[in-house]
Amino acid sequence: MGTAAITKPPALPSDVDLAIVGAGVAGLAAAKTARARGLSVALLEAQSRIGGRAFTDTLDPGNGRAPLPWDRGCHWLHQARENPFTEIADALGFGYRTESRASHIWLGDRWADDADLADRRAAGERAEAAVAAAAEAGRDVAMADVIPDLGRWSGVHRQFLRAVTGEDPAANSTLDDQRYTETGDNWPVEAGFGALVAAWAADVEAITETPVQRIDRRGRDLRLETPRGTLRARAAVLTPSTDVLLSGGLRLDPPMPTELADALAGVPLGAANKVAFAFDRDVFGLEHAMAVHQPDAPRGCNFQIRPFRRDMAIAHSGGPLARQLEQAGPAEMIAFARAQLSEMFGADVHRYLRASATTAWGRDPWIGGGYSVCRPGRAGDRARLLRPVEARIWLAGEACSLTAFGTVGGAHDSGVAAARHAAARLTAARD
Ligand SMILES: Cc1cc2nc3c(=O)[nH]c(=O)nc-3n(C[C@H](O)[C@H](O)[C@H](O)COP(=O)(O)OP(=O)(O)OC[C@H]3O[C@@H](n4cnc5c(N)ncnc54)[C@H](O)[C@@H]3O)c2cc1C
Repeated sequence: MGTAAITKPPALPSDVDLAIVGAGVAGLAAAKTARARGLSVALLEAQSRIGGRAFTDTLDPGNGRAPLPWDRGCHWLHQARENPFTEIADALGFGYRTESRASHIWLGDRWADDADLADRRAAGERAEAAVAAAAEAGRDVAMADVIPDLGRWSGVHRQFLRAVTGEDPAANSTLDDQRYTETGDNWPVEAGFGALVAAWAADVEAITETPVQRIDRRGRDLRLETPRGTLRARAAVLTPSTDVLLSGGLRLDPPMPTELADALAGVPLGAANKVAFAFDRDVFGLEHAMAVHQPDAPRGCNFQIRPFRRDMAIAHSGGPLARQLEQAGPAEMIAFARAQLSEMFGADVHRYLRASATTAWGRDPWIGGGYSVCRPGRAGDRARLLRPVEARIWLAGEACSLTAFGTVGGAHDSGVAAARHAAARLTAARD
């Protein structure tokens, strides 16, 4: 059972100033901002829960112990010192961990020692410097085209990039990558980032189970059509993911301008999934660690081991592997991650395995994947998403952030910005 708020759908109003489509972080932030500015708002969410890709679930570890929380989507406060959710976590009493985690790399017959790990770090720095140099020179090309041969760390680094960006570096823009502000502060939320988002959003009324199918923009007001009726609005903020918008999960009539559709195609979603395992005791002898199987990389998972000393392992996959496993189904995902754990920690660990769960973000029709990734040559596309349609429809969401894309912080700030633009416009029109 999840901890995100599940709400009974309230009635659909007939007429509002601002309609906000999607009650993920961007939509929730937009709703809070617009309401604080005195606008009447309808926040429409297709699913029965709010939060979108922010969703804390639980696994039962057996032995009568309390269920263990784990995040199906976001987990780390990226750019943590500047992330709005760090302050929100402090205000709401949610703990997070600021110490860096230990990295373990299985070399096939032994764990990497300090010299190996220093070598791995140096290889990562060489790759990063090459991407930075290309971006500095204004080269908007595939990251894979500029990263040098990293020898025995090539696979591990490629796997790392796939997990972090949700895509293979062959399909990922150097220039866009370097616009992301990497601060090195990535702090996990103890009770779950999804639970934090749900607590922050407890005061926001969302009209759940109400997918917006079409927005008729031919008249003076927008008409948002849902299976529960039609809503009129003066303006709208649309927060569905780029893939949902690209696949027609929400249609505009007349269709969205071709420049906007083209910009969406430049930043589609990558793939990111997890397999969570709960054990009835400590089978790892580690805590707060990441473990990687070097011989299998880049076709393997990155494992979180015993986060917050919980007897869990959480396998992260990104890019091609995440897509392939998701297509193969939950049983295959679990078997694949179990096999990697067995090789690293011994098959015995599974004697104490009590529960497992998988995500399938790509199959979720209202999400469609992991997080947005910019194609080589398309580094201008995020900025193009920010141009409103007819000065009354704004896009928002993680893909619309220029420096924190793919994150909750970026989604939040883009929702706030879109609502401010809409409020300024609506207020000016009234005066
Ligand atoms: C596996 C995974 C791990 C991640 N890890 C991290 C992390 O550690 N840290 C971090 O900061 N970020 C992480 N992220 C990314 C982060 O979760 C997202 O960037 C963020 O939650 C996106 O918020 P959003 O509001 O832009 O979009 P969404 O969360 O996708 O919200 C959009 C909402 O719109 C709704 N919707 C779609 N279509 C319609 C429609 N037609 N009508 C009505 N509603 C509709 C959807 O149901 C959804 O609720 C992770 C994501 C994944 C998948």
